[in-house]
Amino acid sequence: MSEPEATSPGSPDDIFDGLPHVRTPEGDTNWRDKSGFVVEPKAPFVEFSYMGRHKAPSIVEKARIRIMSALHAASKVMELGPDDEAAAADLLFRFVKGNGLINNERLRLLALASIIITMWRRGIAVRADDVYRAYGALGGTLADRTDRKKLDYKLNALMMRIFSEVGARSDRDGLKESAAQALAGELGLDDASSAVLVALAKAINDKPVTAANVAAMVIAYITGRWGATRLWDVVWPPRSRMARIDGLTVVLGDGDHVNAEVEENTVKVICSRCGSVVYSNMDPESFPYVKGLVLYNLLSKAPHVCPRCGAGLADGRRVLVRAIGLKYHLLISLSKGTKIEKKEAKVVLPKGAALQVRKR
Ligand SMILES: [Zn+2]
Repeated sequence: MSEPEATSPGSPDDIFDGLPHVRTPEGDTNWRDKSGFVVEPKAPFVEFSYMGRHKAPSIVEKARIRIMSALHAASKVMELGPDDEAAAADLLFRFVKGNGLINNERLRLLALASIIITMWRRGIAVRADDVYRAYGALGGTLADRTDRKKLDYKLNALMMRIFSEVGARSDRDGLKESAAQALAGELGLDDASSAVLVALAKAINDKPVTAANVAAMVIAYITGRWGATRLWDVVWPPRSRMARIDGLTVVLGDGDHVNAEVEENTVKVICSRCGSVVYSNMDPESFPYVKGLVLYNLLSKAPHVCPRCGAGLADGRRVLVRAIGLKYHLLISLSKGTKIEKKEAKVVLPKGAALQVRKR
């Protein structure tokens, strides 16, 4: 094999602006054999070598370099490591097979979809802002919320095709936990409170990002952070807030009564040592209208010591949470109107689990 050929870019699209990290693909290597060129990162440089008889990259090879260049640009914005970038490249090339001749918008979508799927397969949630910044770095423009929604929709459709055609699967549990952790960070929760949010998300049987969003919404409400952030826009795919809390029971202390039965339009706090109700909303009829306030009262107004058995329930702003029961509903948009889907979740937390409640 002679010295690596230098590529001679024919158009700005071919200019290689960084190191691609394509290595041995994990699956079908067909794309590489067919193209006749090998790209190997030998940090800190990258080696291009052409195995074919021709002296210069063919149109198809140039197209592949262009794909890798785009993928690298997006990977940089989304802070992928070399291994993830290689996995995303492999996924992308397996999906486009021999057909590397794609227009700019298609390339942007393919690069982003491949990256998101690669991260989801590893159980890592992706931030919506990063997706939009990467789209911009690839030359796409997003003027407003409508543009972003269109992009979300297109990406989603493409990802579904890639998932089914390439046979990729996301790590749903990991993704749920990762999304929950991102939202805990967004809410500024301490470690103990973050652990409660993550545990609640895991207990919610829903799509990973939705489950994390619902859990974050509940924790934000009851700890007094509901005005802090637009939670549902943080993790990709962002959603307009489509969940509503219908009822909540929180069991406090470190006892063994962990049954968190929930009734609609009712919030209550139960002592885990004696099982008595130490706080509940007085008027279930008004609950849907004054929900935020009631939910915040749930923990901030709960007694620090159980009035009946004397068990410790809270220590200053730190509230000992033993179990959470939740009823909520999702508003699902259909072509004809909206469907309401009612759901329920329960989680028992290890003794010592705590939530930090904000001061008024
Ligand atoms: Zn008690």
